[in-house]
Amino acid sequence: MKKQFAIIGLGRFGSSVCRELHHMGHEVLAIDKNEKKVDALSDVATHTLVADVTDETALQRIGIRNFEHVIVGIGEDIQASILATLHLKDFDVPKVWVKAQNNYHHKVLEKIGADRIFHPEHDMGYRIAEFLTSEKVLDY
Ligand code: ATP
Repeated sequence: MKKQFAIIGLGRFGSSVCRELHHMGHEVLAIDKNEKKVDALSDVATHTLVADVTDETALQRIGIRNFEHVIVGIGEDIQASILATLHLKDFDVPKVWVKAQNNYHHKVLEKIGADRIFHPEHDMGYRIAEFLTSEKVLDY
């Protein structure tokens, strides 16, 4: 079934989530404050928008509250990630999935109601270690 997602922050993480969802046939609204990042995804995203998501009124104008699932891929600017998450939960977006930069960031995200929190590098390291030690990897 075709689903709708909004992705905020089109770094390596956000853009690869966007490409993959598009590849799977879903609709994706891709948002970043950097026009170049937005333009780079214009061929894969269903809609693109240049916006600063720390601005609550900008999020309101976008109609973000109509999305059921929003992914926040802002990394380095922890304050922006936290503010965006706060606004999204204030707008009652049911599923807000957020990339965390460190454990303190994680704790704050948890407190303000992020529904799922990722640490991509850590998670991938864990999965690769699991894969390397699984029985499926016999020799390489
Ligand atoms: P990655 O590892 O996924 O490349 P990163 O951890 O280095 O990302 P950043 O590059 O800091 O994270 O952020 C990802 C994207 O989020 C950037 O393209 C940046 O322009 C965007 N971004 C940061 N702040 C905002 C904001 N307030 N509004 C919208 N987009 C933002």
